[in-house]
Amino acid sequence: MSETASLLREVFGFDAFRPGQEEIVAAVAAGRDVLAIMPTGGGKSLCYQLPALMRPGVTVVISPLIALMRDQVRALRAAGVEAGALTSGNTEEETAAVWEAIDAGTLKLLYLAPERLASVATQDMLRRIGVSLVAVDEAHCVSQWGHDFRPDYLRIGSLRTALDVPVAAFTATADAETRTEIVERLFEGRTPERFLRGFDRPNIHLAFAAKNQPRRQILDFAAARKGRSGIVYCGTRAKTETLAQALREAGHAAIHYHGGMEAGDRRAAETRFQQEDGLIVAATVAFGMGIDKPDIRWVAHADLPKSIETYYQEIGRAGRDGAPAETLTLFGPDDIRLRRSQIDEGLAPPERRMADHGRLNALLGLAEALECRRVALLRYFGEESEACGKCDLCDRPPEVFDGTEAVRKALSAILRTEEWFGAGHLVDILTGNATDKVRARGHDDLPTFGVGRDIGRGEWQGIFRQMMGRDLVRPNPDRHGALTMTQAARPILRGEETIRLRRDTMQAKARRPAVRT
Ligand code: ADP
Ligand code: ZN
Repeated sequence: MSETASLLREVFGFDAFRPGQEEIVAAVAAGRDVLAIMPTGGGKSLCYQLPALMRPGVTVVISPLIALMRDQVRALRAAGVEAGALTSGNTEEETAAVWEAIDAGTLKLLYLAPERLASVATQDMLRRIGVSLVAVDEAHCVSQWGHDFRPDYLRIGSLRTALDVPVAAFTATADAETRTEIVERLFEGRTPERFLRGFDRPNIHLAFAAKNQPRRQILDFAAARKGRSGIVYCGTRAKTETLAQALREAGHAAIHYHGGMEAGDRRAAETRFQQEDGLIVAATVAFGMGIDKPDIRWVAHADLPKSIETYYQEIGRAGRDGAPAETLTLFGPDDIRLRRSQIDEGLAPPERRMADHGRLNALLGLAEALECRRVALLRYFGEESEACGKCDLCDRPPEVFDGTEAVRKALSAILRTEEWFGAGHLVDILTGNATDKVRARGHDDLPTFGVGRDIGRGEWQGIFRQMMGRDLVRPNPDRHGALTMTQAARPILRGEETIRLRRDTMQAKARRPAVRT
């Protein structure tokens, strides 16, 4: 694994870069001057924090937002990174601790409020301590014409000259005049490498589907694209082998790839994929890092990825040549259960696990989106856009219904059975199916028994999946995946909120155009 990839995982706890981050990190780490324009929430801070760990000496971060600096310092220290801030918000002890770390030569990131730059003592200190990079957050504050002008930002240019180090400047403000001013004032004549790129990959068609017959669904998708290069991402090593086999039996050229293979075999698989036309690789996440094949025409996920970042990175391997490419991501309750238990059983500290659940929720939200998927995807990265016309939801807007009552019935079934049962049993109760298990537990006597008869079994399964996707219920790993209600469900149960659901997959099948004979 590359140094950046392992720092990303070990220090920051992320499994993939967000769009744009990787290129910016590489440029900053290499000591080039950089001006990066990224939307708010896009993940700018990683673009200087990660390179700071790769460069010798201290990275100085200048930001006008004291609260933000303090948050970042806290998070970095929790991750084991020597970081400190000198701002007016400090206590005396905090300031003393920062100076100590500076004197001991252990500090990696020093956050500075811009007004500090006016102080001669600060300037002397910065000359002394071996600064190797100056990162400027909210770089548009150097512009006199904007609303956020900070006169002290004008000192950054001369600081750069005095220290003779690269500058990495970040802003979400993209207008051309501001950018010109940033370049003039922060870089004083040098030409920074610019990163200004939307995150959209408009040639990639996006689609998700609920898993019902996973192998069939993948084989159908591949069959419709026969002879074109594609990747099928699988959740386990074993599945890469069985799927590759099934694809071969269906007449495709297909191989498998996973991290458990000998290095030589992996290299051979990569070379074959790179050189051969129309080959399919069934692979785990291990595949793709070094692959630079411009004409991958499709990417399918046989299992749900971990996060939107991973999803974006993996589908992003398709269509690098700009020609149309297609994707399909399958997801089902088993994926949700598996991903949740991987997080819960991992060794990460509690805050990180919570963040991982949050990232999984975001991906599930994308999977269960009611409107344009691309709008939802780009919004996650901070970019606003319009309905794309190139996703499954634009192609065929899903039928939506007020699911409040159904969800309340489902929640009531969960609570009446004291959160001890999984979706299958709960659906039996709701539809009034008096199985042996239902009768043995006396669940046919519950007031909830049969209250959901008006809805079919398949639809109930879809409702439970959507409830999991919206994080209204979670499988409890200590109770074999029995469903537990979350806080998010309370307002719905109390009748304070309504919820819209998709009329689901079982129906989607029926809506497929009939084959004419
Ligand atoms: P901004 O661009 O507004 O400064 P931040 O750097 O604060 O954004 O990042 C926004 C959010 O994105 C943070 O919660 C951060 O943890 C998260 N984030 C950043 N990079 C990644 C990544 N590669 N994978 C997952 N989450 C990320
Ligand atoms: Zn769309």
